Amino acid sequence: MIKFKNVHKHFKDLHVLNDVNLEVKQGEVVVVCGPSGSGKSTLIRTVNQLEPIQQGEIWVDGMNVADAKTDLNKVRAEVGFVFQSFNLYPHLSVLENIVLSPMKVKKLSRAAAEKKAMELLERVGLAHKKDAMPGQLSGGQQQRVAIARGLAMEPRVMLFDEPTSALDPEMVGEVLKVMKDLALSGMTMMCVTHEMGFAREVADRVIFVDHGRIVEDSEPEAFFTRPQTERARQFLQQVM
Ligand code: ADP
Ligand code: MG
Repeated sequence: MIKFKNVHKHFKDLHVLNDVNLEVKQGEVVVVCGPSGSGKSTLIRTVNQLEPIQQGEIWVDGMNVADAKTDLNKVRAEVGFVFQSFNLYPHLSVLENIVLSPMKVKKLSRAAAEKKAMELLERVGLAHKKDAMPGQLSGGQQQRVAIARGLAMEPRVMLFDEPTSALDPEMVGEVLKVMKDLALSGMTMMCVTHEMGFAREVADRVIFVDHGRIVEDSEPEAFFTRPQTERARQFLQQVM
């Protein structure tokens, strides 16, 4: 579903992705972790070309996203993205936040878009909040709406960039539960997170990034019990 081949990215002098090779198969859940500034956000933002790359290839569902001829709107319709800051439209109700893109981009009728939106709100446990404004919701609720909004486009891949890092601790669990349900439903996911419990329980693989390189790509059990590098050992000591 996702394939990186010898990907390099620079911000001026900074070599932020250094020869990244990575494959994520359909239905796989990959957790990306690593120190702050190691390139995790940049890595997942290249998947839908929120960040362009200078060298290499990135394939998503058969489309070479770094190829200028590829229609990025098509790529982005297949790839949902959930950010650390919830990024809901503050002036639109929960329901309107979710129906907007399906109506605009997918040309769904309002009735069809609302039906789908209500199913998704049910799924994230927020059907009763459909008419609320984002500012009236807790952070955890806003993030669950953001996930529902991503799913409304019926993506084939979901990307998460530290979706729980901005939340109060008591709200982390409700968002992780929605992500876990999504993983169990068979969604292909790449998640940047420091929630090692989630990684251990849900991930098929854990990727450890350091200075723009993937230095470990292991099954969770192996990563947590036998990290291959000193950097990963240090990192685990800090976050666990
Ligand atoms: P992480 O998500 O692992 O904390 P990032 O991918 O955000 O790391 O950043 C990796 C490195 O690239 C950092 O040194 C950061 O300062 C730098 N960086 C990120 N975005 C930009 C940008 N738009 N311009 C210049 N440097 C950037
Ligand atoms: Mg980041």
